[in-house]
Amino acid sequence: MAQHPMAVDDDLVVSLAYTLRDDEGAVIDSAGDNDPLEFIQGYGHIISGLEDELYGMEVGAEKSVVVAPEDGYGPYDPAATDVASLDMFPPDFDLEEGMLLELHDEESGEVVEAYVSEIREDEVVLDFNHPLAGQTLHFDVKVVNLRPATDEELDHGHVHGAHAHDDAD
Ligand code: ZN
Repeated sequence: MAQHPMAVDDDLVVSLAYTLRDDEGAVIDSAGDNDPLEFIQGYGHIISGLEDELYGMEVGAEKSVVVAPEDGYGPYDPAATDVASLDMFPPDFDLEEGMLLELHDEESGEVVEAYVSEIREDEVVLDFNHPLAGQTLHFDVKVVNLRPATDEELDHGHVHGAHAHDDAD
């Protein structure tokens, strides 16, 4: 006899509505009841400082959670910046301060994300910190739904929505 899960626990798909504000109270991000964030609890799919606080919450429960940088996106690392020549961008590339770039790291072969933090005359300063690094995060969350993750979802490590699933993993 299937038992409906009553509270957030590992291996459950959590549908979470939330509002994220910074220290000044400005809204950084949000998701409503009709378009919640969905993730499998217990796998670090969301920042640890928030995930840890969700355990035991029932459907409909609301909570305010303050997450310090070390439990969020880490402290800001001033060394995680680099200066690149503007020559590396195509002449018609519309480079703007604050934009997110996906860069191909030739050494590791991986794609890394960087923010354009400053554009100078012939060079650009790239910032590899997460944009929320160093920030204390203020969440107001509400558990919209809970259900057990399927074996396939646990195997893939992500939530399968209502839409047809055709990813290769
Ligand atoms: Zn999948």
